[in-house]
Amino acid sequence: MSFSVSILATGSELLDGRVVDTNSSFVARELSELGLKLRRVLTVDDDLGELNAGLTALSEVSDIIITSGGLGPTSDDLTRDAVAAFCGVGLFECPMALKHVEDFFAKRGRVLDETNRRQAVMPIGSRTIHNERGSAPGFICQAEGGKLVCSLSGVPREFQQMFLSTVLPLIKQQCGDVPLVRRATFKLLGVPESSLAKVVEGLALPEDVVVSYRAAFPEVHLVLKSARGDLAALADLARQALGSGNVYSEDPAASFVGALQAALESKGLTIATAESCTGGMAAELLTRTPGSSRVFRGSVVAYHNDIKERQLGVPAQVLATHGAVSAETVRAMAHGVRQLLGSDIGVAISGVAGPDGGSDAKPVGTFFVGVSSAQASFELGCLYANERQNVRVYASNVALDAVRRHVLGLPQASGYPIWLDREKA
Ligand code: ATP
Ligand code: MG
Repeated sequence: MSFSVSILATGSELLDGRVVDTNSSFVARELSELGLKLRRVLTVDDDLGELNAGLTALSEVSDIIITSGGLGPTSDDLTRDAVAAFCGVGLFECPMALKHVEDFFAKRGRVLDETNRRQAVMPIGSRTIHNERGSAPGFICQAEGGKLVCSLSGVPREFQQMFLSTVLPLIKQQCGDVPLVRRATFKLLGVPESSLAKVVEGLALPEDVVVSYRAAFPEVHLVLKSARGDLAALADLARQALGSGNVYSEDPAASFVGALQAALESKGLTIATAESCTGGMAAELLTRTPGSSRVFRGSVVAYHNDIKERQLGVPAQVLATHGAVSAETVRAMAHGVRQLLGSDIGVAISGVAGPDGGSDAKPVGTFFVGVSSAQASFELGCLYANERQNVRVYASNVALDAVRRHVLGLPQASGYPIWLDREKA
């Protein structure tokens, strides 16, 4: 049987629905990069008997068992006891781990008490895993038959760091015979998953290429994987078929806002948003990445018509004739915010997020995006009939994607239901 890795996730909060086990999916994704698949994922309660039964069951089918959680100082943190018992060793207070816990507390001006000292207790003979982001160190302990138990903190950001720095290298080292998997990633915005599937079908990819889609609303990520040949030629084909502009990045770690920020920075441009139905969400997205101040000037949440008129200079006549949700209004809003906040680009959003307020002419999900820059101004009209929150998320992303495409000189999206695309020089 091939090399196998399993997870024992612990915690009653995972079993009663309070917390979703994201640590296992994180490991699964990391392993799939290596061409490996998790053998099993088992979730058990914070209980010694359950933990022991879990370790026993998983050890029958796994070379490495990763435990998640239960390393804290409280009475329900039982992982160290369970692993020591399972490996047939006692526990000891590890000086190196104690130093880490002491330093962690000292840095935060906290006094280490007896309870917290428990976090430095490890199974005898185990190797400590440094926890850069938290107080509880982890450990790797050998069980019968050379199987390894790697115990990591349950806190996702701590778990991830500990996994990447220590467990992943160990797995790579132990499973040297895994074939190298080549992959090509395409991160898209503005193409529905169904249309994407059609495009990919049209590529008639060879059988050894595994295609996977991940919907990360409102984005879709396409990954092509092959353990055989070089993917470069196929990736070129796919890139062409997907259409320029639709792929915002081919870097698996890239984010859409990161790509937008890079696009604006590459052209030395700044942006400001004028938002009605999105209530500042586009601004929130823009400020997610460090360094956003280099491109983002600010935002006006112009929810009420008064604000559209007084702050952004939307003519009363425009609002009266065309309504707040119209191409004319977002055009004036985008222009107004650019003037008011002194940005190179102004982007405006106004729509009917629902559930009320729709009409035959402008049903719930109708929204307009206006973009104004020194080079051009244009408006998009979209209909995305969905729940209020989804409409708002969608509209914010569509607006920012319209800016990305504009800045990079790429065609506007045709995939999502855009029924108006007006460009005015
Ligand atoms: P701590 O020192 O904080 O007690 P721990 O190693 O004992 O860490 P837990 O107490 O089990 O870990 O969990 C710590 C936090 O991480 C909790 O908020 C818990 O809900 C969350 N958590 C635990 N396991 C997972 C998991 N598999 N996926 C996502 N979150 C998790
Ligand atoms: Mg805990």
